[in-house]
Amino acid sequence: MIELTVNSELQQQELGGRLAELCPGGLVVHLLGELGAGKTTLARGFIQGLGYDGRVKSPTYTLVETYDFSDFSCFHFDLYRLADPEELEYMGIRDFQTAQDILLIEWPDKGKGFLPAADLIIEIYYVGQGRKVRLIAETERGKRFLSGFTP
Ligand code: ADP
Ligand code: MG
Repeated sequence: MIELTVNSELQQQELGGRLAELCPGGLVVHLLGELGAGKTTLARGFIQGLGYDGRVKSPTYTLVETYDFSDFSCFHFDLYRLADPEELEYMGIRDFQTAQDILLIEWPDKGKGFLPAADLIIEIYYVGQGRKVRLIAETERGKRFLSGFTP
């Protein structure tokens, strides 16, 4: 487990960007934290760090936004508004390949039973005006990924 203090929106995006640089593809990330904690901000930095230079919208209403790269895709989920996890079945949730694709999932608890297990959990906590961010590897793949990260 790696714990970091991240005290601005810019730093939060930069952290996402640094994580993306370490990521060869094939990673399932669960993003945990209250509303406004900074999950989307981190995901935005991550997606831009993968090389996407358009606007990264929050998938608040669409539930998922997909970004296609040459060798893999990145799926950014925000399941806050998902009423029933079964809805994921009808959303093409199974279109991803966890061998090569990157999944960034906000509110994974709302999709319980219909989502792949996390390789990496990112927990974000409010601390005053800033945030504390914890990176927790859950699988061998997650551990390999995190071993490349220097705080
Ligand atoms: P979430 O997706 O978790 O609901 P957002 O990423 O939309 O949260 O961020 C909510 C607000 O928090 C934004 O205004 C953003 O600028 C701010 N924010 C994000 N990360 C940080 C941080 N590390 N420190 C201070 N403010 C942050
Ligand atoms: Mg969000």
